[in-house]
Amino acid sequence: MRYLILLATLTTLSAQQPPASAGDDTRGYNDTPQIIGQKWKVHDMSRPRPAKVTPGAPVSSVAPPSDAIVLFDGKDLSQWVTQGHGGTTKAPTWKLGDGYMEIAPRTGKLVTKQSFGDCQLHVEWMIPESATGKGQGRGNSGIELMTRYEIQVLESNENLTYADGGAGAIYGVWPPLVNPARPQGQWNVYDIFFEAPHFEGSKVVKPAHITVVFNGVLVQNYKEFLGTTTWRQNGVYEPHPPEQPLSLQDHDQPVRYRNIWIRRVKESN
Ligand code: MG
Repeated sequence: MRYLILLATLTTLSAQQPPASAGDDTRGYNDTPQIIGQKWKVHDMSRPRPAKVTPGAPVSSVAPPSDAIVLFDGKDLSQWVTQGHGGTTKAPTWKLGDGYMEIAPRTGKLVTKQSFGDCQLHVEWMIPESATGKGQGRGNSGIELMTRYEIQVLESNENLTYADGGAGAIYGVWPPLVNPARPQGQWNVYDIFFEAPHFEGSKVVKPAHITVVFNGVLVQNYKEFLGTTTWRQNGVYEPHPPEQPLSLQDHDQPVRYRNIWIRRVKESN
């Protein structure tokens, strides 16, 4: 009788196991394509998560230098639009707080009116203490260079997800070197140095590259984008003009932003 119960228990347990080819956005996946040039799959569940690092004490917000274009100074959304249907744009309805803006879920991503190529970008972001959920469901947003190349924004102090999907990741390609995320309710800082891709006709001849400093810690060291950021995919570049707008994702979750400024970077003579 005891063996029968054990057998029944084992049968029930095995019935609850996920299928061999599966995953979720807390653990990752094992049925995704290989990342080009790497030994890992996209959002690979066996890829080690980055080591946690405690960043130094936060400094107060870093003021923009004189040649920066201020995209958000805490007061208004005048530099941004929301994309509507059929290529139309409309005034954004993200919420303005005391010196910050907060995603109004399901109102759509924010897109800059101006376009940018090579740039230095400063962004501060916070996951509010009230945010709940897990995996890709807690504090998910993203900084999209040229509306395509994403550096992930996600609650990553306590919240677990696949290695290439946490804050500071080149989403779906490179995890951050380490994880210096601050707790919910505290401001995080990204300083991003981006080189736009170059195309000849439909072919990419120089991929996009990015360097990211996250709360004063290097997390991406001149890493390559393999194409437009896509969930569970990689490796597809779509030709586009040399300058494109910057966008901030709306993933239906409240994330705050403040002090966003950008500098166009030109090669020295
Ligand atoms: Mg995202």
